[in-house]
Amino acid sequence: MVLVSRSPQRPDDLVVEVEEADAEAVAGAAERARAAAGRWAATPALERSAALGAAADALAGAAAEVTDLMVREVGKPVTEAGAEVARGVGILHYYAQQALDPDGETYPGPGPAALLLARRRPRGVAGLITPWNFPVAIPLWKAAPALAFGNAVLLKPSPDATGLALRLAELLAPALPDGLFQVLPGGAGTGEALLDQVDCLSFTGSVAVGRQVAVAATERGIPSQAEMGGLNASIVLPDADPERAATVVAGAAMGYAGQKCTATSRAIVVGDPGPFTEALVAAVRELAVGDPAEQATVVGPVITEQAMRRVTDAAEEAAAGGGRVLTGGRALDGKGWFVAPTLVDSLGPDARLAQEEVFGPIAVVLAVADEDEAAAAANGVRYGLVGSVFTRDLDRALGLAARLDTGMIRVNAPTSGVDFHAPFGGEKGSSFGPREQGKAARELYTSTRTISVLPHGG
Ligand code: NAD
Repeated sequence: MVLVSRSPQRPDDLVVEVEEADAEAVAGAAERARAAAGRWAATPALERSAALGAAADALAGAAAEVTDLMVREVGKPVTEAGAEVARGVGILHYYAQQALDPDGETYPGPGPAALLLARRRPRGVAGLITPWNFPVAIPLWKAAPALAFGNAVLLKPSPDATGLALRLAELLAPALPDGLFQVLPGGAGTGEALLDQVDCLSFTGSVAVGRQVAVAATERGIPSQAEMGGLNASIVLPDADPERAATVVAGAAMGYAGQKCTATSRAIVVGDPGPFTEALVAAVRELAVGDPAEQATVVGPVITEQAMRRVTDAAEEAAAGGGRVLTGGRALDGKGWFVAPTLVDSLGPDARLAQEEVFGPIAVVLAVADEDEAAAAANGVRYGLVGSVFTRDLDRALGLAARLDTGMIRVNAPTSGVDFHAPFGGEKGSSFGPREQGKAARELYTSTRTISVLPHGG
């Protein structure tokens, strides 16, 4: 089957047209990967480190071109796209150094001359299944540690980001041995075929698919991790500056048209919601919406026509259910998949918009009486990726943050934003398996072998 990827701002712009990798192609790629993995695991760590450094340099050298391709293929505003490519370079450099980290631990043995070691070793072939919204950073924050620790990588990108994945593979190819990093274009069928071949699996995408992938991996007996959706809340306490909090929340909710797993979908306002809501509507209306190639643009298109309909349908359903659409709620004129940034209030925490991820530029403002209600509303969803609190009072911030069931907590900071050198992941329906990024990545891409060495004489 042929797969096509089109530009969301100009759907008549065909970015790439390529044959999907079928089960046979996936099996062939896995065989090459397995051979490459064996040689790579035996390559000195210093050489693996140097190769990842060269990969970083290759990406840095093509930064402008990759940024433009990202703008074109997934509609990411150019300033964010440039920052993502720079992050990709940083990730490769960071894991180039981690290839030289201690590769295990020593424990007291049965005698003074005996050794008891727990050494990390690569799993073999790492399978990566990724979404389209961070088409450089997500593949790299999985691939770089996998490679650093001695694995080969098979990447199945989202069909909507196929052009970028193929370009990434071309750029990295001169730095890496043959077969070590391969891209398998395709959709669900290719993903399923990949699952049958690999030794560990890292997934990022929606909850529905992530669950399926984790079950399939477990049935095969391979370790997996799945990073999935979010419905992230920002809690605004009465002592917070409403304008400042609103500016931050507006950016986190609507930047890149809300298409981040860490986007703010719910603003939970303690006490009188009036001043914050007014400031938020003003801040959202000020965001530049339009061509993602323009430097000033903050909100570009959503990825597909279907995604656009999801946002307008969600706004209509919210209005029909008693919600008040404060701004937006409609598709914008023009050729691409543009939708006006949308804010809704006057809904309860059980409304669908306050319970299910839409994955677009839409957020709900929920009014609550006190911090107990705020914590209950924030936690009353099946997701648990990021939570944020806005206040000048450190004690209240710490107290509330400690009650949030999320993998990441941000105080006076947007829910969006990821530090690649720190562990990343969520609670509840947002994540499964070990954390990724930072030093945590080692958990999935290596296993531990415990080794005892005794003197020959006993
Ligand atoms: P998606 O779940 O539709 O697709 C993700 C990947 O899975 C794609 O490569 C897709 O082709 C593949 N896939 C689909 N069906 C499959 C199957 N049956 N077996 C194997 N692979 C299959 O997600 P998407 O639309 O690409 O991305 C948006 C979603 O990703 C949102 O829910 C968002 O919150 C989430 N996301 C999460 C994080 C995170 O780190 N938590 C980061 C970015 C995006």
